[in-house]
Amino acid sequence: MHDKTLAQLSTGLAGGEFSSVELTRHFLDRIAALDGRLNSFITVTEEQALAQAEAADARIAAGEAGPLTGIPLAHKDIFCTQDVRTSCGSFMLDNFVSPYDAAVVTNLAQAGMVMLGKTNMDEFAMGSSNETSYYGPVRNPWDSSRVPGGSSGGSAAAVAARLAPAATGTDTGGSIRQPAALTGITGLKPTYGRCSRWGMIAFASSLDQAGPMARSAEDAALLLSGMAGFDERDSTSVDRPVDDYAAALEHPLAGLKVGLVREFMQEGLDSGVAAATEAVLGELKRQGVEVIEISLPNAHLSVPAYYVVAPAECSSNLSRFDGVRFGHRCEDPKDLEDLYKRSRSEGFGAEVKRRILIGTYALSAGYYDAYYLKAQQVRQLIAQDFRSAFERVDLIVTPTAPGTAFPLGDKTDDPVSMYLQDIYTIAVNLAGLPAISIPAPPAEGLPTGFQMIGNHFEEARLLNVAHQIQRETDWHRQVPAGF
Ligand code: GLN
Repeated sequence: MHDKTLAQLSTGLAGGEFSSVELTRHFLDRIAALDGRLNSFITVTEEQALAQAEAADARIAAGEAGPLTGIPLAHKDIFCTQDVRTSCGSFMLDNFVSPYDAAVVTNLAQAGMVMLGKTNMDEFAMGSSNETSYYGPVRNPWDSSRVPGGSSGGSAAAVAARLAPAATGTDTGGSIRQPAALTGITGLKPTYGRCSRWGMIAFASSLDQAGPMARSAEDAALLLSGMAGFDERDSTSVDRPVDDYAAALEHPLAGLKVGLVREFMQEGLDSGVAAATEAVLGELKRQGVEVIEISLPNAHLSVPAYYVVAPAECSSNLSRFDGVRFGHRCEDPKDLEDLYKRSRSEGFGAEVKRRILIGTYALSAGYYDAYYLKAQQVRQLIAQDFRSAFERVDLIVTPTAPGTAFPLGDKTDDPVSMYLQDIYTIAVNLAGLPAISIPAPPAEGLPTGFQMIGNHFEEARLLNVAHQIQRETDWHRQVPAGF
């Protein structure tokens, strides 16, 4: 059953080939047998999952099922889940049980999906390797000595190893797309405002966005249909109907114009990834797509601008973890200041502390104009680069990450080289655009990713192009040995 796509699972459930309880049990058994090798789950919610599966079976029997009813999935542990621990990968929230579900969790539960558990992640979604998690690193199912990418590395590894048919992720600078690339799955970061951020623990609020992680574009389309939608509880949610993503998948591509970003094909790009990118471009050309070179002249400023904006916003968002209202509280505080200091020193890991320090500095009087304001101006320039490019092309394409999965520990002592993992993905978040990563041909046995960026709210087109590539190729069908 773990070989099937979401659409096949849906058909199997509707036709009575298997029940949701059987399907859920199957995935729970796989997690129990195989996740010791990966550490992709922080919490497995067996009891709740089987209860949800029973309810889904009743719904199917009553003829009230939708396309996702009865299908299991995993949620990144950044989404609040009622009565289930939501740790965000941090000791700070190791004891936090949310009194409510995040909007995305509610939407998928209402569609009848079954939650298998909560997946491992970099602490507060800060990282590109899943090594900053308090719960230990996640291992890449393609090679257990390597990272799965991050911060949604648990979701990516679980889907790649087929411990869950699909999963949710979040992407602030690349955290859906980069782990999707490093594990050989399909991951979509929607337009900012497409999925509600309500109940999703905030990292950098102007950049954070939830999205689907799945084994194909078709599956991602189905999952996104269940996640997306307006939510008045999130003031940045956009009130606009959700497109019919599944219906758009079959459009032929002939006549489409895509722009390959010249600056991203130059220094710093692994030669195997460059060749993989060319192979996908070859497939697009075969289908009648015109590929032209474009330039994003300010894109090289995206990583520095992001590492001012994101820490600034996180320093403000994470101030709520003070030992009083949520999470960890130190033992026997002497006074209020001691309570704040020790609770936060003990609760947060090194990378989170580094970001809070940088952000607090960038926002402080005297430095605000020099750093934060400047970064916001650069952000406008980057958005303008994309606007100009979209006057010439329908889609923009790039590699997703500069290399393949790297060995655990390889970049932990060098934050800047870790930050450069997101060199091709971060500009997209700064401009609020949607982008998808799909598997390209492997390089030396490891997965690679191909990124496509659309104009605002063009998720349907991204999924369409991705699906047309996947119909003709089998790069997304590769399965890691032993899973
Ligand atoms: N790797 C980037 C960071 O560490 C992006 C993380 C994300 O998208 N959540 O901030």
